[in-house]
Amino acid sequence: MWNRKIRSGIRSSIPAHISQSFQGLWPSLLPVLAFLLACSLLPSVAAQTCGTQGVAVQVLGSGGPELQDKRASSSYLVWEDGQAKALIDAGGGSALRFGESGAQMSQLDVIFFSHFHVDHSGDFSALIKSSWFEDRKNPLPIYGPPGNDFMPSTTEFVSDFFGDKHGAYRYLSELLEPGEDGSYKMQPHNVEAASTPIAVFHNADLSASAVRVIHGGVPALAWRIETRDKVIVFSGDTNGEGAGLVKLATDADLFVAHNAAPEGVTGVERNLHMPPSVIGEIAQQAHVKKLVLSHRMLRTLGKEAQTESEIRKRYAGPLQFANDLDCFPIK
Ligand SMILES: [Zn+2]
Repeated sequence: MWNRKIRSGIRSSIPAHISQSFQGLWPSLLPVLAFLLACSLLPSVAAQTCGTQGVAVQVLGSGGPELQDKRASSSYLVWEDGQAKALIDAGGGSALRFGESGAQMSQLDVIFFSHFHVDHSGDFSALIKSSWFEDRKNPLPIYGPPGNDFMPSTTEFVSDFFGDKHGAYRYLSELLEPGEDGSYKMQPHNVEAASTPIAVFHNADLSASAVRVIHGGVPALAWRIETRDKVIVFSGDTNGEGAGLVKLATDADLFVAHNAAPEGVTGVERNLHMPPSVIGEIAQQAHVKKLVLSHRMLRTLGKEAQTESEIRKRYAGPLQFANDLDCFPIK
């Protein structure tokens, strides 16, 4: 009633001859109005930055832990037909990139963690908080490594943030604790993997398997995501020892490897990360169809020519260095 009064008041305040000629314009204005309406719906579509068809990997974070690399830390999305289906790692800065990518937390089928160093997990809680404002109803499975004296397991890690007793962000415990009234629940799982790939997750859209990789003393996983007939493998952080990563990456359409150590590095850095020669060796042995180098740190940035030449001695396929928000469609 109130609205009708206002509308009729507005109409009566327009002079009759203008009102009549405006009415005469209605048919010609309809296409304009339809266009304006379409434009108002566009942002949610246009904001999607990694294509609307097929399978693609988007790099949310291409950097390492140092903020001076001016890159978000490790994080990747697997897109399928314009939907962000899987998130791999959530390093610092990646939550902002997630928003910039046009992805929605409500689209994700699953989250995979390679390990829990800060540069792979620091923005996890920011992403979960953002999801609280979305209309997510489905459970959110979260898979990652088991723990040791040095690192929490995946279930501990999630609970350390969102557990109702001691979680740092226990005010959001409704998204984890079964008895509480949250719109959805996180479902964390510890993945006990070895050097032979094990199946971890599957649904109608994608499946995932993992191997344990060596990353100093930190429990760490490499992930293989298969969607339709496309295969994407994420090395995570590893020094490349053992045969697991080659097995996991065999015939991958895309292999995302971490370029965190330059050739010739020794000591702790070599114990944690693989130099370019090892990346090239693994890519060649696994016959991967394309190699993307990410986790670029100050010690490898600027050394791309040397890195590429070491890899080229072993691997002849396509190779690209990743930047934040790069999108790699899988043909
Ligand atoms: Zn690490």
